Amino acid sequence: MTRDDFMALDAADTLRELRDEFVLPESVIYLLGNSLGPLPRRAIERVARTVETEWGLLLSESWNASGWWDLPATTGDRIAPLIGAGPGEVLVCDSTSVAIFKVVSAALRLRPGRRVIVSDAGNFPTDHYVVEGVADAFGYEVRDVAEPLRDDVGAVLLSHVDYRTGAMRDMAAVTDQAHAVGALMIWDLCHSAGAVPVDVTAADFAVGCTYKYLNGGPGAPAYLYLNPRHEDAVNVISGWHGHAAPFDFEPGYRPAEGVRRFASGTPPVLSYGALNAALDVWEKADLNALRAKSLALTEQFMDLVDPALKIVTPRDPAARGSQVSIRHPNGYPVVRALVDRGVIGDFRAPDIMRFGFAPLYIRHVDVFDAATLLNEVLEKESWRDERYAGRRLTVT
Ligand SMILES: *Cc1c(COP(=O)(O)O)cnc(C)c1O
Repeated sequence: MTRDDFMALDAADTLRELRDEFVLPESVIYLLGNSLGPLPRRAIERVARTVETEWGLLLSESWNASGWWDLPATTGDRIAPLIGAGPGEVLVCDSTSVAIFKVVSAALRLRPGRRVIVSDAGNFPTDHYVVEGVADAFGYEVRDVAEPLRDDVGAVLLSHVDYRTGAMRDMAAVTDQAHAVGALMIWDLCHSAGAVPVDVTAADFAVGCTYKYLNGGPGAPAYLYLNPRHEDAVNVISGWHGHAAPFDFEPGYRPAEGVRRFASGTPPVLSYGALNAALDVWEKADLNALRAKSLALTEQFMDLVDPALKIVTPRDPAARGSQVSIRHPNGYPVVRALVDRGVIGDFRAPDIMRFGFAPLYIRHVDVFDAATLLNEVLEKESWRDERYAGRRLTVT
């Protein structure tokens, strides 16, 4: 297939207009939406309105008049359809790390007598760090997922889509395995929501971030899903925003109904403005069409790159998220050379190059151009240039 063939695919793409929703510099092919999604144009106006009108003119009246108080719940209800959850089941709050602390602690308290948390040492480090912290604080034991599941396990925390390889677990099957030993299942959906269809309903709890595929902006708050069958779950960070009657200023804590009890403190209102603008775009997107496009983009990229490369992302569409990862001993300088040529991907130690294909705004021709440049950098060994040798700090 030629470059023109890829341009023809874009011309026929029913999702192509969604790209116009985003600020994307012409000079770059942004394959890092799995780390920080681009700026939705609507967010510029929305954040300005929140600042100028809601904060500037209405001042503290905005807690009611502008719906600030309810933002964690109302924003959660907008994320719910993206993960197969219902209204009142998702709360937007905190960072993913804090949300993990809350749900792991809550799950273990629902399984008294069981002292073991199963975690994946290969998971994104913060997940594992927080699990270790919960275990230290409350006297639990951490066991790796590679070991057999036994009936002393209270909770299992895993990522649905692996942040390094893009491999996707069978959510329903793994959840069944956890339930079969009486453990509760917690899913991390950071690389799932907005990337692949999710049916969270079998899970007991789930968490995810909103600044990757959902494009909520840097530092946008995370979301937390509570299965309604656990309406009695306990939030160990029992702050006033999770209280049943926060403005009664009662001396004792009484949790709110449902997922709202997982709120703790005052929400970062400006960030919710940007996130809600990003969610407007999701309302226009057909999730099945997006998944089909995502699979096409990742497959085309795998087909176009040098066949000698070691692709670690599964070829099986049922086991693949929305990124392609390639193992290469010189992955770091190769990624630096590509960034210099306008192809923005990233590197994960020790040797993985990651390329995210967000179907909302990545075009087929971007896939062609990125693969062509990657092949060229490898063939000409342009990555050997000493400019690409020194390490810089890279972010998630
Ligand atoms: C991105 C990501 C996080 C981010 O955690 P924060 O607390 O939002 O910084 C956590 N877990 C996984 C699996 C991720 O991919």
